[in-house]
Amino acid sequence: MSALTELYQQIGQCFKCDIAKLRCHAVPGEGKENAEIMFIGEAPGWHEDQQGRPFVGQAGQYLDRLLTTINLNRQQVYIANVIKCRPPDNRDPLPTEIQNCQPWLDMQIELIKPKMIVTLGRYSMARYFPGKSISKIHGTSQKRDGVIYFAMYHPAAALHQQSLKTAIEADMLKIPKVLAEAVRIGEEKSAAEGGRQLNLFEG
Ligand code: URA
Repeated sequence: MSALTELYQQIGQCFKCDIAKLRCHAVPGEGKENAEIMFIGEAPGWHEDQQGRPFVGQAGQYLDRLLTTINLNRQQVYIANVIKCRPPDNRDPLPTEIQNCQPWLDMQIELIKPKMIVTLGRYSMARYFPGKSISKIHGTSQKRDGVIYFAMYHPAAALHQQSLKTAIEADMLKIPKVLAEAVRIGEEKSAAEGGRQLNLFEG
């Protein structure tokens, strides 16, 4: 069993928050285990809770269409959420829920080691771009510790507002160039780490 599958099992047994008692399924995330790019949304909705899979409702279908515009599909990327259980009545995640779920997301990132993380919506943006406003920073990136973070609107918000739809579609088209840069940075980092290890061996 892969470390990621083991992590999914642990997430499925997590009852730190009250909303865990209401779920049909926890929704840990899915995709390529060593994906170069990881998308992080907010929280599962009704469809996701039913299926135990992220972004399978209307917003997810739109995300799939956005991915095809840059010649990517779900099998080539990794998709997760800030919280793994569905908040009732589609309410926003609570600060305690985000805090309780944070270690799971951190462990996922640790295992997948993406070179680029795309935040979808305010909640995942808040995690990686603290204090920023999405209307100001969508479509921009920030490099930290060898990873490039890129902020986008949430597909569900963009579906219902034409100006956001135009923005998310334009932002998506920026990804290939940023990803190529992220991969280059990642390769440089691995080469530098390899060089340091060689130096250690050689004394
Ligand atoms: N919205 C999210 O943020 N995540 C999902 O998985 C589905 C809808």
